[in-house]
Amino acid sequence: MHTPLILLNGEVKDAILIAGIESLRKGASAADVAEQVARDVEDDIDEHSVGFSGLPNILGEVELDAAFMEGESLSAGAVAAVKGFRHPISIARQVMERLPHVLLAGEGAERFADEIGAERGDLLTDSAREIWRKRIADCGLTINDIERAANRQSSIVNRQLIEIATRVLAYREGSDTMNVMVRDARGHLVVAVTTSGIAWKYPGRVGDSPVVGAGLYADDRYGAAACMGLGEITMRQGSSLRAVMLMQMGWTMDEAGRAVLRDMLPICRDATRHWTPAGDGPFPRSAWVRLLMLDRHGNAGGYCTHDGSTYKVQTVDESRPRTLVCEWVREDE
Ligand code: ASP
Repeated sequence: MHTPLILLNGEVKDAILIAGIESLRKGASAADVAEQVARDVEDDIDEHSVGFSGLPNILGEVELDAAFMEGESLSAGAVAAVKGFRHPISIARQVMERLPHVLLAGEGAERFADEIGAERGDLLTDSAREIWRKRIADCGLTINDIERAANRQSSIVNRQLIEIATRVLAYREGSDTMNVMVRDARGHLVVAVTTSGIAWKYPGRVGDSPVVGAGLYADDRYGAAACMGLGEITMRQGSSLRAVMLMQMGWTMDEAGRAVLRDMLPICRDATRHWTPAGDGPFPRSAWVRLLMLDRHGNAGGYCTHDGSTYKVQTVDESRPRTLVCEWVREDE
């Protein structure tokens, strides 16, 4: 008998985590609980990096990425750059269960979502639109410019979109891609990741969240890992698979997590070369990464390229979630 537990972002509302724990207590599978918790976060209007009310791309469209992976079978499903659906995590799980594929993108993912009867919805809220408008102005453009670019009426504005995609990371608002990691009573590990990606991204940009091995990985035999932060970094490193792989090689979770983060630091530095982001600490906020990990015994850990990032853990034996601070892995270690 394994102690069921949930590990996820520190910003998630306790009520969502507690509801997931209640389902685990009743014997629900890790897969069902991971999906349930991720859906609840997707519905959370206060969560601007996931699902409904997520911040849009530079054209003002909310584009969602999500992935689902089961550590028992190494099955995975994912969707990328999906628009107009409330629960991308459920579409990702259905890709895993109903198709001989792992990743669907854009129109194909939306066609599939319609076929399975996934709930449609308008995801851009007034407050998210307002933040977007402000950032457009910060970049010296008007909504009219953006609309003309969207309609491809101006090649000049299209060129500006490319420039904006490199400049705009300085204005990244929060970064709360949802990493839900669950272990059930049978010891099965499931990771669900769902996000609206980085705010103001170039249309069609896909981050690490739907990329198995980068944004997430789960293998019951060794453990699981998931990432939040700038996907362009973890995709270059294969961070989640790398973390699980090190545990497979006999490293402790702590050794593995720290090693992955240390190896990542030069990529973080290199990533900043392209932008002029604002922020403090050794890396600007726009070029940071956080790795959450579970080992096969159910120990949880968090590792980050900056300080102050938190995560929450709760087992079925606990009445409340615990909030823990990620290990800050510095360049000089
Ligand atoms: N990892 C996500 C991405 O690159 C963004 C984030 O965590 O904020 O799309």
